[in-house]
Amino acid sequence: MDNSSGQAKMSDFSSIVRFLKSGKATFTIKDTKNDKAWTYRARKMKDKEDGFFIHLKIDGKFSYIGMLWINTKNGIDQLKVVYGKEKSAVLISDSGYQTISAVIYCISNKYTLSFNEFWHDGNCGRCGRTLTNPDSLATGIGPECIKK
Ligand SMILES: [Zn+2]
Repeated sequence: MDNSSGQAKMSDFSSIVRFLKSGKATFTIKDTKNDKAWTYRARKMKDKEDGFFIHLKIDGKFSYIGMLWINTKNGIDQLKVVYGKEKSAVLISDSGYQTISAVIYCISNKYTLSFNEFWHDGNCGRCGRTLTNPDSLATGIGPECIKK
């Protein structure tokens, strides 16, 4: 189900956070300065409400690299990426890890992403169905799932 046609760039940080929290988010971070891109998946942990496993697409396969924690207090989202240590498929110095770590840091602190861009993959971040209407393409979440 590799659907790249419905990809859309997301700029609004609160929409990005909601998308990341939806449980099955697949997204690409593009480095427009160096013309590079990395595709990630953020899967909600079964036993933790605010924890997500981050996988990076390497040679067509998603491999575990670390965790994302999203702590929401008084309406403010604090996001943090934690390296997967010996279980990670990449080194901590690898651009695939450094890029998501830096982008999540910017989102959490409301800093501009500068030359990095955040793109969802065209599928609902919650159920994985293909997004079609403009509202869904803006939020990365389908019309039914956004109500939940
Ligand atoms: Zn959905």
